[in-house]
Amino acid sequence: MLILTGGRVVDVTAGESFPADVAVEDGRIRAVCPGLGEEHPQAEKIDVTGKYILPGLIDAHVHLGGSAGVGSPEEFSPEQFELNLRGYLCCGVTAVLDMGGMWDLLLHWRELILEGELLSPRLFGVGPGLTAPRGHPVSTVFKDFPPELVDRLARQVDDPQAAREEVARLAELGVDAIKAIYDDAGGRLPKLPRPVLAALIEEAHRQGLKAFVHVGTIADAREAVELGADGIEHLPTEGNPGALEKLFRAMAHLGTFCTPTLAVYEALFRIASGDDFEDLEGTVGVPRAVLQGLRRREVRERFQGRRNGFERRLESALANTRLAHRMGVRLVAGTDAGNPATFHGFSLHRELSLLLAAGLSPQEAIRCATLGAAEKLGRPELGEVAPGKAADLVVVAGDPLEDMGALRRIELVVAAGVPHRPEEFSGKGGEQDGT
Ligand SMILES: [Zn+2]
Repeated sequence: MLILTGGRVVDVTAGESFPADVAVEDGRIRAVCPGLGEEHPQAEKIDVTGKYILPGLIDAHVHLGGSAGVGSPEEFSPEQFELNLRGYLCCGVTAVLDMGGMWDLLLHWRELILEGELLSPRLFGVGPGLTAPRGHPVSTVFKDFPPELVDRLARQVDDPQAAREEVARLAELGVDAIKAIYDDAGGRLPKLPRPVLAALIEEAHRQGLKAFVHVGTIADAREAVELGADGIEHLPTEGNPGALEKLFRAMAHLGTFCTPTLAVYEALFRIASGDDFEDLEGTVGVPRAVLQGLRRREVRERFQGRRNGFERRLESALANTRLAHRMGVRLVAGTDAGNPATFHGFSLHRELSLLLAAGLSPQEAIRCATLGAAEKLGRPELGEVAPGKAADLVVVAGDPLEDMGALRRIELVVAAGVPHRPEEFSGKGGEQDGT
């Protein structure tokens, strides 16, 4: 048994903290109350006096296969993937939901984690995204990828029967949920026909899986919500305000999750603004090779032309998140990490800051990245510091309910019952180059 003694436990729902020791055994929280340290003199103890204990953070929208760079080969080495996973733990993120990626690779990592050979947050995933033939992201993000890689990243379906079969196959492979892409990129690309989206959602539910939908417009989101989608990924920004209010009213009524992924919009805007990310030099999960790629002149020039568009996108995402929150929509923290400059681990702290900028209180933002995210995952054992829950904890210096900056002052991360000091994740000198 391991006991954290002398700290204050943060209740992410009540928005208050209370003094208690936390006892952990076999990967579970056994007890949360004062005096456990004295009651169990033989137990291993870590003194966290004056520190705050929270549930481990959860990023509910990532792409573990993405490098957060602009795609140079060294960003995709096995060593780099390992560093990305460590980057999450180092930032207090103890669980992630991969929203589209190589399921075989995720299963392989899960095995390594079980064997104790990989330092990683808990990995959940949807496997390959489901989209229309030649739809987004097949003809966009994946357009230069070899066909066999595209097949591992996306399943292209065009009729309801094929859609049902594909979802059944994914369920058999053990995915935690499914993700459908319902976005025609402003009329430029094929989109799933509505009956196909309906079949995907229906079959997912029949298989006991949640169905999350990436949408392009407010109208797309409205249709997905009407068809029973469990969550909307990214906030639609196109459409009129009246339609947006109707959408949010429906989502609030049905309890549909909304993961606005503000961090990715901020990151794209930062690249386009010519930012050199100097402040991130040496951060675990922010590889030097990736930073160097983002600083290349041709990359900057490519992004600079879209600066105004990215700025508008970020502003409208913040305004829409504010409205969604006011209207009672279930917001969840997710970053879209893996996209350019949306770094693994670190970005969740940006997402939390952006949720504050959108009008949430620190308690509300923290709930989005703990219990709220656990609800989206459908994992009741995660997201709270309470007896019987998984022993995923983060200990920080300072009260995050008063000052969210305290969440960056991480003293200890307990992942599946195993305590880690942040220094452990930075590895040996130079390892962070990821070459
Ligand atoms: Zn995404």
